Amino acid sequence: MIPVTKTFFPPIKEYHCQVQRIWDNQWLTNRGELVKELEANLKAELGVTNITLTTNGTLPLQIALKVLAGGEVITTPFSYVATTSAIVWEHCTPVFVDIHPEYLTIDETKIESAITKKTTAILATHVFGNPCNVEEIEGIARKYNLKVIYDAAHCYGVKYKGESIFNYGDVSTCSFHATKLFHTGEGGAMFCRDEDLNHKLFYSHNFGHNGPEDFYGVGINAKMSELQAAMGLSVLPYMNKILEARKKIVDFYNENLDFSKLQKLKIRERTNWNYSYYPVIFENEAKLLNVKKELNEQEIYPRRYFYPSLNLLDYVNRDRMPVSENIASRVLCLPLYKELEPEVLFKIIKSL
Ligand SMILES: *Cc1c(COP(=O)(O)O)cnc(C)c1O
Repeated sequence: MIPVTKTFFPPIKEYHCQVQRIWDNQWLTNRGELVKELEANLKAELGVTNITLTTNGTLPLQIALKVLAGGEVITTPFSYVATTSAIVWEHCTPVFVDIHPEYLTIDETKIESAITKKTTAILATHVFGNPCNVEEIEGIARKYNLKVIYDAAHCYGVKYKGESIFNYGDVSTCSFHATKLFHTGEGGAMFCRDEDLNHKLFYSHNFGHNGPEDFYGVGINAKMSELQAAMGLSVLPYMNKILEARKKIVDFYNENLDFSKLQKLKIRERTNWNYSYYPVIFENEAKLLNVKKELNEQEIYPRRYFYPSLNLLDYVNRDRMPVSENIASRVLCLPLYKELEPEVLFKIIKSL
């Protein structure tokens, strides 16, 4: 069976060594040695000022919204469901703005007309690791005094204009889920350059604690455990190899697919991309379904990321988003992972 992605498993001996440290320390969670080490290593690797590790990539979205937003939040309909559900879960109202037909990120030219007196924030996704137009969005946010949160779940290792994409927005979040590029099994992170805001995010992820008997404010439990950090520390040394292998597969698709009838993702200018997904956009849904069926018959399982368009969820106000709905009906993510074999790649190319 060929899935759309395969979790990277580090050599078990290396994982054992990390887990042994947990036993030696007799310390399982609450910012132990391994979580602190993983934070330091990621900070150095990514070039970010602050990082708070979390138990998944959804809680940091909820925490950022809780701390920064209320009322209406402008957001993208083309993302994983967690982007929208986090807004609704935090009792805010998602206000969708359609996407750019080639970059697939929120269409910044349509944001201003969606702003009302109730708007407090913009929550946009750098979808497939492709950066939003961060400059334009920052300009709009400044003009209307809005906060900017980026769902950067797909963005491990992405740089924009030579700098980590996590350094943009008031807060950026990432997911370290097993299906993501860098993973800790389940896990995630939030990134924030402002020290005061970072402090607030940090205590919010640990029940609001200020020492054992005092509290800064309301909080929740979103802490990463030592067990998760052990996986992260074992995976991290392999990231360059993983990225290299994925680049080769992406290059192969780029060189061998026939783009006269297929559209590929347009990566924003001046981006160092991370080869996180390989979406292709068909001429129509019927063609997508045909290819999907043919591949499934060969036990190859590409995925319809992202389908359906999130404005069509039954718990949101279903404003039409023509571009997002149209793209969502035609986009298919092809298998992409380090161990993917050339024979399989040829089969996929042939079907397409
Ligand atoms: C994976 C993902 C999330 C959620 O991350 P988890 O770690 O699974 O909680 C949020 N947003 C996007 C865009 C994602 O792809």
